[in-house]
Amino acid sequence: MKTEVLGNTKLLSGKGLAGLIQQRAREETRALENSGRHPVLAVVVATDDESTHWYVRSIERAAERLGMGCRIVDLGPDATEQVLASVLTDLSTEPSVNGIILQTPLPVGVKADDLVGLIAPEKDIDGANPLSLGRLAVGQPAFAPATARAVVELLDHFQIPVAGQNVAVVGRSAVVGKPLSLLLLEKDATVTICHSKSGPLERYTQRADVVVVAAGRTGLLKGSHISPQTVVIDVGTNVLPDGSLVGDVDEASVTGVAAGLSPVPGGVGSVTTALLLLHTVEAARQQSPTTLLTASISRI
Ligand code: NAP
Repeated sequence: MKTEVLGNTKLLSGKGLAGLIQQRAREETRALENSGRHPVLAVVVATDDESTHWYVRSIERAAERLGMGCRIVDLGPDATEQVLASVLTDLSTEPSVNGIILQTPLPVGVKADDLVGLIAPEKDIDGANPLSLGRLAVGQPAFAPATARAVVELLDHFQIPVAGQNVAVVGRSAVVGKPLSLLLLEKDATVTICHSKSGPLERYTQRADVVVVAAGRTGLLKGSHISPQTVVIDVGTNVLPDGSLVGDVDEASVTGVAAGLSPVPGGVGSVTTALLLLHTVEAARQQSPTTLLTASISRI
């Protein structure tokens, strides 16, 4: 593996890993096709936000490249909670659909929390249903949110150990911070979860071997917050007024201090999309046509 080094800091690019995951998803898709099954991801969208549509189209193109189906269900920015609920319920019992994503943002007044519980857990390939988080918490099989798994896969890919290490996770959301902390705990890391009421971050991040920042705050983690040899994974995605994308890490001050840093863009994000598609193929493999038929009959 060829790794770029800036000062003492290795650049932990996600592109190579994303390619490997896509290759695995392509092979598994082919194997399923050979047994007469075609994996299909459904993405439910209800916004006119251009960047969301751009992101959804990028998932669709990636799925097509892997030979998978991708059904974009665009309900428009005025979709009501009832319509969204009915679509999610139908997709959950539709045998030809294997994975479901409810894309945010949603129309004003509609909360994702009130809807994600309608995604059948076996199709919940982005770990959005609270049942998936609960299963992760007790070590039962479930799909983790793709971003949380992307962080763990990236650390693994670059052979950065977490077992017995101190890992500080900055952010405690149900989509990133909490599930990621559970995955790291499962890998025997000692995890500290920081949030907006934690006080000075350096109290936790300076004694961490690995720091993962998922706060959505430009420049939050600076070089003075870490020790030499700390590995930093940047999950944040922030759009600057000039349209460029940056993470939560102040790259200028962290580069040269950290032992490793994942870039934004080109780090966790690229692995996340590849994992969404791999999860869809995994879901398709686990869903026997008989199981789906039984599920659909039991909901009639
Ligand atoms: P979120 O729901 O807004 O949660 C942000 C978390 O960061 C909260 O727990 C918040 O603490 C904490 N936080 C905010 N300011 C802080 C500060 N100054 N010090 C310490 N903690 C602070 O965001 P999210 O959905 O988890 O996403 C986090 C970031 O990851 C965003 O930039 C998002 O765009 C990005 N993201 C990237 C991907 C990807 O694939 N690359 C996927 C999902 C999300 P409180 O709980 O106390 O408010």
